[in-house]
Amino acid sequence: MNPAEVAALLAYAAELDPRNANADEDEARAQLRRWCELLQDVPAVAVEGWDASAVVRRHIAETPWPIIAADVARPWAAHRRALLARHTDPRPAVDPDDDRAYRHAIREQRVAVATGQAAPTSTRQLTGGPAASVAARIGAGRALPAAAVEQLARYRPVRAAREAAAAAGRPDALAVSCDWCHAPAGEPCRRRTLAPGAQAGTWSRRRTVHPTRTDKAAAGRRQESAA
Ligand SMILES: [Zn+2]
Repeated sequence: MNPAEVAALLAYAAELDPRNANADEDEARAQLRRWCELLQDVPAVAVEGWDASAVVRRHIAETPWPIIAADVARPWAAHRRALLARHTDPRPAVDPDDDRAYRHAIREQRVAVATGQAAPTSTRQLTGGPAASVAARIGAGRALPAAAVEQLARYRPVRAAREAAAAAGRPDALAVSCDWCHAPAGEPCRRRTLAPGAQAGTWSRRRTVHPTRTDKAAAGRRQESAA
């Protein structure tokens, strides 16, 4: 607040509570100086409902004590803290590669919020759910787009084989364990590695399943459909 605004605020306080009025001119001047010093960073009005005169009115209405400058400065500090707590430094319209200008712009935004000139910018909430294309994919049980699945197929041979089997209507061999290599359900068939230097008992995954496993899966499915 500038001296004129502080003087107006003091006059308002004296009007509501005559004990705040100073008959002595020297004392009145000293009080104005005190208030100007203590309230120089406090705006008269600011965003989100800050109004210094409303703070004065509330104080006089609710407490029996004569008002002092701190009774206005303290609520402003709390209001300012609340504003800054909700500010999330939105990206300014400045080239992010221009480091100096970018930081300057961020600082300006914060100062504007801290002095009550601009409302804080909170992070927007996701309220509409995922985009329609993503929602359709999730609904179809696929997290990945078809093109990505295709691209990844050669890096995920086991999964690709299962999907191909499902698409062709063949039984899913990996749904059952393998009696040949004892691979548990869900895991690919395996064979001992014979590579030189490999540790004894080391296994590697086979790209294909043992024929007995395919038969077992087919038999299981026949039983299921007969039941
Ligand atoms: Zn096997």
